[in-house]
Amino acid sequence: MADCIFCKIAAGEIPSHKVYEDETCIAILDVCPVAKGHTLIIPKKHAENLFALSEEEASEIMKRVHHVAGQLKERLHPDGLNLVQNNGEAAGQTVMHFHMHAIPRFANDDVKINWHMPQADQEVLSALCKEITA
Ligand code: AMP
Ligand code: ZN
Repeated sequence: MADCIFCKIAAGEIPSHKVYEDETCIAILDVCPVAKGHTLIIPKKHAENLFALSEEEASEIMKRVHHVAGQLKERLHPDGLNLVQNNGEAAGQTVMHFHMHAIPRFANDDVKINWHMPQADQEVLSALCKEITA
């Protein structure tokens, strides 16, 4: 994709801090890290988001996510780690090339990945469950 920043990074046309690379994916440090070691796992082949990936491609990327998360855990010794993946502008996606955020978490860090979670009505959940599965 001509104007895609992550395609350019994957092709080596734009510099990045690469912490992992194989034939399918690269992993780079996020330029605006929310925490120490905030890393993006990016497939080399352009796909806008999760829905543009085949099941097999998604599964191959997830293997790399697992590997890189392990690498971060081993090297940085975080107390936890968030995986975050945004699809679409409404979900906060700003770079329209699929990527997974791996965010190491440290006890008492100031990272805020939270949202309001009101208790749902059981009937509402039941109807929604039907809507999704029927
Ligand atoms: P998202 O909001 O999920 O689309 O996340 C895009 C992420 O890409 C943001 O966290 C940005 O800080 C990060 N980002 C954008 N440009 C670069 C770049 N050139 N190198 C590394 N990270 C980048
Ligand atoms: Zn791209």
